Amino acid sequence: MSRTVYVNGEYLPETEAKVSIFDRGFLFADGVYEVTSVLGGKLIDFAGHAKRLQRSLDELEMANPTTEDELLEIHRELVRLNGIDEGLIYLQITRGAADRDFAYPKDPVPTIVLFTQAKPELAAAPMAKTGLKVISIEDQRWGRRDIKTVQLLYPSMGKMMAKAAGADDAWMVEDGQVTEGTSNNAYIVKGNTIITRNLGTEILHGITRVAVLRMAREAQMSVEERPFTIDEAQGADEAFITSASSFVMPVVEIDGQAVGTGTPGRVTARLREIYLDEMRKAAV
Ligand code: PMP
Repeated sequence: MSRTVYVNGEYLPETEAKVSIFDRGFLFADGVYEVTSVLGGKLIDFAGHAKRLQRSLDELEMANPTTEDELLEIHRELVRLNGIDEGLIYLQITRGAADRDFAYPKDPVPTIVLFTQAKPELAAAPMAKTGLKVISIEDQRWGRRDIKTVQLLYPSMGKMMAKAAGADDAWMVEDGQVTEGTSNNAYIVKGNTIITRNLGTEILHGITRVAVLRMAREAQMSVEERPFTIDEAQGADEAFITSASSFVMPVVEIDGQAVGTGTPGRVTARLREIYLDEMRKAAV
């Protein structure tokens, strides 16, 4: 079944949606994106994603072609037109089409594209029961990882390295410390303490991270925002990742070594449950 997608003000069948070959998103990865999950036909943490989108655009001096209200309306319309109960909405804004030149063009018209991905098992993901195996790899991305650009080749390579090693994902390491997963934030649990990398330009400021850390504090857990090593992670009681599309997902093995009991931990399971409960209630 063909999806209805959104391109520059129009809702179109996916086969009819077109973007210029001169688009700077295509030529320079000069674009930013967001992924918002849908549960029960409603958007999870839309406000958080809209806010980070604006920050990414501001950092790149790129114009936002929509207001937050219009963006919400487009998301909702795509959910409706495609009958999405559980799934994802992908949004991308690029600087637009211009003759190829490294310098930003003057007064470009941004390109905006949104499409849906139905994922019937988003909340009931089998991986939440089994946990992920991760490998560690060197973090070879650029230095502005706090901007959510479409420049995702190294994370793709990392995912392929993980698959080749029989694992599910990779945690990236810089100067001996874990930055984050290829498409998620990384955490370890020691006793009642959640440890995750502090914010900076080295990692993406996850929208799920904000909510999960708040909920952990509300549930009387302590939170330490600091770097940690693979060694420390392997010796932790539990490990997990967060992202808008995986919520809270247990990590049970790092570089072939079991974390804790080698099965999904209780703290992780609790955080996943609290997160899903609260976010479903607050969905729009
Ligand atoms: N880090 C990276 C590198 C990511 O790609 C993502 C997912 N977009 C995240 C963290 C998690 O962010 P969020 O919780 O906003 O999905």
